[in-house]
Amino acid sequence: MRSDVTQYELAAPPTLDAILAKLATEPGQHMPIAGGTELMVALGVGRLPHHSLLSLQHLTELRFIREEADSIVLGANTTFTDIRRSALIAAKLPLLAQSASWTGAIANQNRATLGGNIVNASPAADNPPVLLVYGATITLISQSGTRTLPYADFHLGYKKTALRPDELVHSVTIPAQQDSHRPYIRKVGTRNALAISKIALAGLASVENNILQEIRLGAASLADRPIRCTAAESALAGASLAPDQLEETVRIGRAALALEAKPIDDIRSTARYRSTVAENLLEEFIRSLAV
Ligand SMILES: Cc1cc2nc3c(=O)[nH]c(=O)nc-3n(C[C@H](O)[C@H](O)[C@H](O)COP(=O)(O)OP(=O)(O)OC[C@H]3O[C@@H](n4cnc5c(N)ncnc54)[C@H](O)[C@@H]3O)c2cc1C
Repeated sequence: MRSDVTQYELAAPPTLDAILAKLATEPGQHMPIAGGTELMVALGVGRLPHHSLLSLQHLTELRFIREEADSIVLGANTTFTDIRRSALIAAKLPLLAQSASWTGAIANQNRATLGGNIVNASPAADNPPVLLVYGATITLISQSGTRTLPYADFHLGYKKTALRPDELVHSVTIPAQQDSHRPYIRKVGTRNALAISKIALAGLASVENNILQEIRLGAASLADRPIRCTAAESALAGASLAPDQLEETVRIGRAALALEAKPIDDIRSTARYRSTVAENLLEEFIRSLAV
C-alpha cells in the first residue's frame, strides 16, 4: 500500500554537526537520506518505518574524490555520475569506474550515492564487491568522533552493518597501488543498468611466471551480504596457469568457490543458478589470466 506522505517529515539541518547532534540526542528516531533512490522506493510502497528523514544531500563536504599520498578517498555523498566522470577513478580504480557505470541508469546515477549503496546493505549491490577486492577502509563519523574499519568488517549479515544509529558514513579510502594486479569484473543480470545483479564477481590478481601469486575475489548475491571469497582465494594462491595445469587450477577454483558459496533463492534467481554462474565467472577470470 502506498504511504501517506503527510505522515512523514523531511528536515535538512544546515550542517553536518547539526545532523550528528540530532542522531546522537534522539538515537534511532531519524533516518538519513542521501540520493533517496532507495528510500523513496520504500516510501512509495509503504515500507519506510522511519517517519523523520534527515537530508544529507546538501552536505558538499561529504561529496568529494581526493587523491592522497597512497590512497584515493571518496566522500559518502559522491554520486555514481561523479565516479563515472572522474579521470582519477578511471585511471587508478577501473573496477569502480565500471561498477559505478552500471549502478542503475543515468537518472539513478545522478542522485544515487556511494554511501547509500553501502548502507543500504543489499547483498546484490554493485559496488561493495569492488570495494572488497580493493581492500577499502570505511570511515564513520558521529558526534564523538570518527572511527575507521576495514570495509570487509562493515557488512554483518543480511541488511546488517556495523553502523551505529548515531553514525554516518563519512568516506571510503582505497589504496591507490593496484596497478600490478590484473582486473576482472562482470555483472550478470537481466540487463546491466537498472537491474540488480543475479550474480556479480570482481577480481584482482597478480601473476608471475605463470603462477597466480595472489587473487582477490569479491562477490554480490553469493551470500547474505557482499563477500570476499577467501576460501577460493586461498585455494588458488600459488596455483599454476601453465597450459598443462590450467584445467586443474580451474577445477580447484570452481570447487573451492562452490563450497563457500551460500547464495539465496529469490525472485531473481535460484541459489543453484547463482553458484553455477559464479563458478563460470571465476573460470572466465582464471582463463583470462593465462593468456
Ligand atoms: C530504479 C533503480 C535502479 C537501481 N539500480 C541499482 C543497481 O543497478 N545497482 C545497485 O547496486 N543499486 C541499484 N539501485 C539501488 C540504489 O539506487 C543504490 O543502492 C544507491 O546507491 C542508494 O544511494 P542513495 O544515495 O540514493 O541512498 P538513499 O536512498 O538516500 O539511502 C539508502 C540507505 O543508506 C542510508 N544512507 C545514505 N547515506 C548515508 C550516510 N552517509 N551515512 C549513513 N547512512 C546513509 C540511508 O539511511 C538508507 O538506509 C537502484 C535503485 C532504483 C530505484
